[in-house]
Amino acid sequence: MRYLILTDIHANLEALETVLSDAQVRGYDETLVLGDLVGYGADPNAVVDRVRALQPTAMVRGNHDKVAFGLDQAEGFNTVAREAAQWTLEALTPENREWVAALPQGPRAVDDLIEICHGAPYDEDAYIFDETDARLALKTATRPLCLFGHTHYPVTFELRNGSFTRRGPAAETEARLELSEGVAYLLNPGSVGQPRDGDPRAAYAIVDTGAKRVELFRLTYPLEAAQAKVISAGLPEILARRLAAGR
Ligand code: ZN
Repeated sequence: MRYLILTDIHANLEALETVLSDAQVRGYDETLVLGDLVGYGADPNAVVDRVRALQPTAMVRGNHDKVAFGLDQAEGFNTVAREAAQWTLEALTPENREWVAALPQGPRAVDDLIEICHGAPYDEDAYIFDETDARLALKTATRPLCLFGHTHYPVTFELRNGSFTRRGPAAETEARLELSEGVAYLLNPGSVGQPRDGDPRAAYAIVDTGAKRVELFRLTYPLEAAQAKVISAGLPEILARRLAAGR
């Protein structure tokens, strides 16, 4: 089985379309979505429609998706995120809003190999940045490969015979991670629609369960078009600028 892994799309249709075309060529069977379909970007409805059409096998909600319940969910957000949340809430069609609100809370076990969550397996809203967070997540995970999002930072943490390793984002367009038996993995493929590792390219992954391999990709996409939509939608200008900076 080849799973297409999408996370933190953030209403960036240009990035999503580029990722889906690339994934189509590489080939995949099913889709897993780790949350934050909306928020920040200018195309919440088009992105939701596109993801719905993929009929994902498993999905979890992100903190920005929870805004579909109402703005009180954006309490911990900074001013820019809050402004974007308000805009998103007004922009979503009633049908899409209902669909986003119904996204399930993580974590979710997909099969014997994979578990998905938005933030962490122990808390859907927690950020996994350092070794302490990662060790706790690896301990809590119920599957050998736990996929997460939320930080928008592509990274892999590994626990092999008690020894901990961290692999940062790959500079290449394509990187591979071969999965070994008896090793626990915690992996963030990186954000489709708002990367924050200093690399503005869209990020996604394919997990090949038969080959026991994760394929990681970075793609340039029509970034200027996404930026122009953010500006003309009246969303905070910084949201357009940060797409180019990848921060
Ligand atoms: Zn996010």
